[in-house]
Amino acid sequence: MTAQLIDGNALSKQLRSEVARRVQTLKQRGLTPGLAVILVGEDAASQVYVRNKVKACEEAGLNSVLERYGADLTEAQLLDRVRALNEDPGIHGILVQLPLPSQINSQKVIEAISPAKDVDGFHIASAGALMTGMPGFWPCTPHGCMKMLESIDYELRGKHAVVIGRSNIVGKPMALMLLQKDATVTICHSRTKDLKAHTRTADLIIAAVGRPRMLTADMVKPGTVVIDVGMNRDVDGRLCGDVDFAGVSQVASYITPVPGGVGPMTITMLLVNTLESAERSAV
Ligand code: NAP
Repeated sequence: MTAQLIDGNALSKQLRSEVARRVQTLKQRGLTPGLAVILVGEDAASQVYVRNKVKACEEAGLNSVLERYGADLTEAQLLDRVRALNEDPGIHGILVQLPLPSQINSQKVIEAISPAKDVDGFHIASAGALMTGMPGFWPCTPHGCMKMLESIDYELRGKHAVVIGRSNIVGKPMALMLLQKDATVTICHSRTKDLKAHTRTADLIIAAVGRPRMLTADMVKPGTVVIDVGMNRDVDGRLCGDVDFAGVSQVASYITPVPGGVGPMTITMLLVNTLESAERSAV
């Protein structure tokens, strides 16, 4: 392997200890940052995600409140809970774990969260703030990718960044964050013709697709920085990213692993957003 690893576990550890330090400072002023996590139904993956988020909060000294509801919860009941949490002064962040059961309109629920407590950064006001460069919460996964680039002092100005994927939670906000740092950004998606022609000209590639090891070494120019957002299971059931790590690490200058890359950074940025929400409420 010639590429240097950007270790999401190590960076998370460092950032989470900084979060814990700032939480202690707030606690000394009588304020404990609080995150409410709402889980509806029995989705197995969601249960794991929620458990990891709650555990990370506890370890950093934040207060986390997990609210679990059966899959038959109505949309009106969920909206009532969200509105009550909006008014709760002990809660600084509200996270509704997706996906929600089919009787509930997810977008409607997200829009019911107060933008001041939208620590997932999915509210339309948060998206608008990011687009216009105004203060607001950034979605945790692309925000985590930006922190990883910062950790290697990567200068984005004038670089060609190729983002593969255009979802509202990863690809699009990622592209906007890179643009804000003066990169020239290309967004690729399932209808892009000749993906390789784009990726071969990239200085930075962010892969956020959901297809095991789809970015191969021949698609990457030597020296490129590669961030792998993908979380997939390969045919043998092993966790892997969107990047063919074995091949691409031979040509890239920096690369993130899966697991241990973007995944832990996503939770870390949730803690950061919740802490910052509490800090804003304290001024
Ligand atoms: P998504 O909503 O399914 O979006 C996938 C995107 O990839 C879409 O924009 C799609 O294009 C594009 N795409 C699909 N096939 C393609 C192809 N052959 N060539 C180029 N583009 C293609 O997924 P997501 O929520 O953004 O997540 C992407 C991946 O990141 C998944 O593996 C997910 O598990 C992972 N993820 C990880 C974290 C983490 O914390 N590490 C967090 C979130 C997501 P169209 O728009 O044209 O359909």
